[in-house]
Amino acid sequence: MIAIYARVSTEDQLKGYSIEGQIEDCERLIGTKEYLVYKDEGITGEIINRPELMRLQREIESGLITRVVCYDPDRLSRKLSVQLLLTEHFQKYNVELQFVKHEYKADAEGNLFFQVRGAFSEFDKAKIKHNTMTGRYRKAKNGLVVKNGNLYGYSYDKANNTYVINEKEAAIIEMMFESYTTNRFKGINGLANHLTEIGAPTKKGAKVWHRQVVRQILMNEAYTGTYIQNRWDTVGDYVKRQSGEKVERGKMRPEEEWIISNIPAIISKEQFDYAQQLLEQGKRRHTKLGKHNYLLSGLVRCGQCGNTMPGKRRLSHGKDYFIYTCQKNTAGAKSKGCGKQMSENKLNTFVWDNLLEFFNNPDKINEFTDDETPKYIEDETKHLETEIQKTKKGRKRLFQLVTSSEDDDLDLEEIKEEIRNLQLKEKELTIKYNQLTDELKVDKIKEPSQLALGKAIEVYLENRTQEFSFEEKQHLIRMIVKEVTVVDSETVNIQLF
Ligand SMILES: [Zn+2]
Repeated sequence: MIAIYARVSTEDQLKGYSIEGQIEDCERLIGTKEYLVYKDEGITGEIINRPELMRLQREIESGLITRVVCYDPDRLSRKLSVQLLLTEHFQKYNVELQFVKHEYKADAEGNLFFQVRGAFSEFDKAKIKHNTMTGRYRKAKNGLVVKNGNLYGYSYDKANNTYVINEKEAAIIEMMFESYTTNRFKGINGLANHLTEIGAPTKKGAKVWHRQVVRQILMNEAYTGTYIQNRWDTVGDYVKRQSGEKVERGKMRPEEEWIISNIPAIISKEQFDYAQQLLEQGKRRHTKLGKHNYLLSGLVRCGQCGNTMPGKRRLSHGKDYFIYTCQKNTAGAKSKGCGKQMSENKLNTFVWDNLLEFFNNPDKINEFTDDETPKYIEDETKHLETEIQKTKKGRKRLFQLVTSSEDDDLDLEEIKEEIRNLQLKEKELTIKYNQLTDELKVDKIKEPSQLALGKAIEVYLENRTQEFSFEEKQHLIRMIVKEVTVVDSETVNIQLF
């Protein structure tokens, strides 16, 4: 089977070279319509792992393809190393290679000629790249802005290679720095929200101002008139992107390689520097604030799966909100949890409101305690007590019988045996009884401690004239709440000390 391989790069596409033209020319060379087409569009010839080229190679290996036709060697490869790999692969599977615009013979001489041509092609491409690079570099050195970076606040003047002030956007920039340094809209989030609300135009027509965009603007020294070029090293990024490799961002060149151009300033250096200090401070405050304090931290448990429910931060529509959840994402967690979650605010309010009600009506305490205090244990201990008394009485009776009897026919050995049995039974019962009373002692701790309650109410009454702070609330809760069990979204049990 014959394969036609065609390729256009993004640049080719811009220049109007079509992939269909290549296929037509190849078809004319083949002289039949029996062929398969493999075409890579918008992909550089410098890389080997182009999707269709890879498919072609697989189908060569499977034995489907025996002949490959291509418009010219550059379609196949723009790099000598890639060209060598491909021709080697074709030869290994006895695949004939043919070009419309190049006479190719698979003998030693033909290969050498082909390779020399490939080397020149690669050199040519590198040279063009170098020339445009140095051309740009020279221009930048002369203070020109060589590329439109879509800098907000400015318009790019292509004819003169510079930025000119865009009055509308510059007014927004001024407002942003002014309001950020006076904290008019409460930080970067507030400022971003304000810009969205007033419908301030963005560069790319977006409706929403993201805090990251606002931050980048506030950190960009270009607004003081200092525009830096040649700061980021992007060499090789294009080829990497084409071949699906990850392009590292933020590969900064050493400072001495930066090229500084002067553009019209929008913000004074003083105001800019002040904004930088505030940003730095804000970052510190944010990391400190990052540790959100949960009112019921360490107290909440899931009634379904039994996991503890620590507080977690969730992001929704760009806003933080907080929940308690039994879901454990940490590797090695004993139980992943059933996934139950409850809004922090809802649970905090529920617990606090209930405590307030209790503090104001202490006699309502029974509503808080589960009166499941095991009745069966009480019954069992009573039963054991009577059983033990019975054995004691029986033993006594038997003992008296043995000592006071004048009946010689009495089988003393039999009575002694019975006494031994009763003694064993009594011992067993006593052990059981002690176990049960021990359990009862543990259970008693679970019942509300009058001491803890009394102290908590005392603290509450002392402070109730004023609004309780977070710390005071937490302190009060911890004084009397042992655990909060979330059964479902409507049922919560509060267990007191
Ligand atoms: Zn759960």
